[in-house]
Amino acid sequence: MYILLMGPPGAGKGTQAAKLVDKFSIPHISTGDMFRAAVKEGTHLGRQAKEFMDAGQLVPDSVTIGIVKERLAKPDCKTGFILDGFPRTLEQAAALDVTLDQLGIKLDRVVNITAPDDELVKRITGRRICKGCSATYHVVLNAPLVAGKCDKCGAELFQRGDDQAETVTKRLEVYQVQTEPLISYYRDKGVYAEINGLQPIDKVLDDVVTNLRGNRT
Ligand code: ADP
Ligand code: ADP
Ligand code: ZN
Repeated sequence: MYILLMGPPGAGKGTQAAKLVDKFSIPHISTGDMFRAAVKEGTHLGRQAKEFMDAGQLVPDSVTIGIVKERLAKPDCKTGFILDGFPRTLEQAAALDVTLDQLGIKLDRVVNITAPDDELVKRITGRRICKGCSATYHVVLNAPLVAGKCDKCGAELFQRGDDQAETVTKRLEVYQVQTEPLISYYRDKGVYAEINGLQPIDKVLDDVVTNLRGNRT
């Protein structure tokens, strides 16, 4: 199953992707996670990406497209993937089409998870990530059993630098201008589905899975 997860920052893409990985046993490919790992390791890619991420802007297409191309060519993508947070521009979408054609892959579904801006701001500013296993929590909406500690591995939780209120407005603006046009791009291809993200996490998952199963031939 080849799935593309779209949606504004904070809509719940990462949360749903983690659950879909368990259900379908396919890799989760998140460009945001790839960039954060590169920043942490201090690689050349990390140095290229950091200033854009800190400013709430998109990393340039010339950098982003290359890393996704490389990742999709790996053997674990042969049976499917969940692509989360890519593409985010029309240029990235066009490049993805070319790459998928070369690999002989056809997307099964483009799932867009939606939520209103005030909810997105609340979700992003309260988001916390596990230092050990990268599991995602929310201080109120999806709280860990013990405050500040991961339920799964016990490691400490932290807040992403770009999840501060100042950067969030910029990220929502960037989404509207650069990423929203992709909705009609994929709608025209007949693979687009919209899921109401303003529901409890498990209900969103149910809706996504029902939609994916409905598309299976
Ligand atoms: P994205 O990957 O789209 O940026 P995340 O999956 O990281 O979004 O979710 C953003 C924040 O909102 C996290 O703190 C997460 O725990 C929380 N969250 C995700 N889905 C829901 C939901 N359906 N209801 C309430 N909170 C949610
Ligand atoms: P969220 O789901 O909360 O928007 P991500 O983890 O997907 O956050 O992305 C974090 C940051 O990484 C983005 O604000 C952007 O700077 C960079 N990034 C991630 N994916 C892309 C992409 N496809 N194109 C350009 N920049 C990206
Ligand atoms: Zn953990």
